[in-house]
Amino acid sequence: MPTDIHPHLSEAHTPESRAEFGVDRPDAPILPGAWLGMLGGGQLGRMFTHAAQAMGYRVCVLDPDQDSPAGVVADKHICAQYTDEAALAEMGKLCQAVSTEFENVPSLSLDRLEQLGAFVAPRGYCVSIAQNRIGEKKFFAACAERTGVPTAPHWVIQHDADVDQLPDHVLPGILKTARMGYDGKGQARVKTRDDVRAAWKAMQHVPCVLERMLPLAYEVSVLAARGADGATATWPLAENVHRDGILFSTQMPSTSVSPEIAERARAAAAAIATEMGYVGVLCIEFFVLTDGSLVANEMAPRPHNSGHITMDACETSQFEQQVRAMARLPLGSTRQHSAGKMLNLLGDVWFEFGLERTPAWDEVVAQPGAKLHLYGKSDARPSRKMGHVNCIGEHAEAADAAFTAAAQALHIPL
Ligand code: ATP
Ligand code: MG
Repeated sequence: MPTDIHPHLSEAHTPESRAEFGVDRPDAPILPGAWLGMLGGGQLGRMFTHAAQAMGYRVCVLDPDQDSPAGVVADKHICAQYTDEAALAEMGKLCQAVSTEFENVPSLSLDRLEQLGAFVAPRGYCVSIAQNRIGEKKFFAACAERTGVPTAPHWVIQHDADVDQLPDHVLPGILKTARMGYDGKGQARVKTRDDVRAAWKAMQHVPCVLERMLPLAYEVSVLAARGADGATATWPLAENVHRDGILFSTQMPSTSVSPEIAERARAAAAAIATEMGYVGVLCIEFFVLTDGSLVANEMAPRPHNSGHITMDACETSQFEQQVRAMARLPLGSTRQHSAGKMLNLLGDVWFEFGLERTPAWDEVVAQPGAKLHLYGKSDARPSRKMGHVNCIGEHAEAADAAFTAAAQALHIPL
């Protein structure tokens, strides 16, 4: 589909602007005024776009959806598939740096943009590790020597013989598809070898990883960033609660884990980013087991739902940091200035007793410390991520009080 040529398009291509924005000097920062590209137009892309525009950048979003949350706020929206050669060429020509908000974007599209001359952060190689649980686990295991944090005992299942040969210590376990799993989808809990056979058949024999079921005490995540200069930064530990497989709330800093564990998780996340040669923001999910030990579960090569609280509780949000990293600017401080707890808003909030309603946003924002973020999605459906409320306060109790009040105003049971 042909797209309108933005009036600023030609500006980015004069020899003067190339020099001004630093494209001919690979290590130079890409300064405000330049175009940044985003693959994916969801809410993460939208919040990135807001952060980039606030700093004076222009943003081009590539997303196949005509009405994507980021596409409608970007300076330019290229409405096409992620593999569309003409669309990638257009983005590569316009944008000096490109990032992604969607980990299932084909890594070859990122490679193509790099070939076209854009600074791509994170690179396709890093994204491809996070796209496949088999490679991700292998990578975590290889890092474990340096990080001191193992991954769950697991077994790769790609052939019938793999089921026959699986060692007893991975049972009972969770069978997870190697690709495209999210919000607990593509998973089955299994107790016996026969369960594994049946579950794998139900998954149509796609490559899978069987992980031993671990005794979890808490689930935490570390948002980390690595700049083009190799500097790393991590935010305080985020403690996550899921409901029906979807993130329900995040508390930052986690009040459940010890300072030692928090430090170890943050150091491990920074080491993993360095080991990959990663540039950008990433999220690493860890399990804290009942014996207090840490296990690395999975990573997302982009800002993450559990990092939204950084928007209101920290000096630099995960989205501003994404801008800084891809623009080769110095990373910003991750210092947390307020205690915070985020409440995710799913489409369910728009329904009560089966009837559609308008949630009481006025009551939510009336709570001291409650900050409302909505993603501009017009179609509220149950389980769809529609927004979040960041609740901040001077200390954890104040943030928690705002959280409880916001949830009550929205009739969300706690
Ligand atoms: P996400 O929404 O984070 O992308 P996902 O579908 O990719 O989720 P995981 O995070 O690996 O999958 O697993 C979903 C949930 O299942 C975890 O949050 C955790 O509660 C539980 N879980 C996963 N693996 C294990 C394990 N090895 N032992 C115990 N519980 C587990
Ligand atoms: Mg997860």
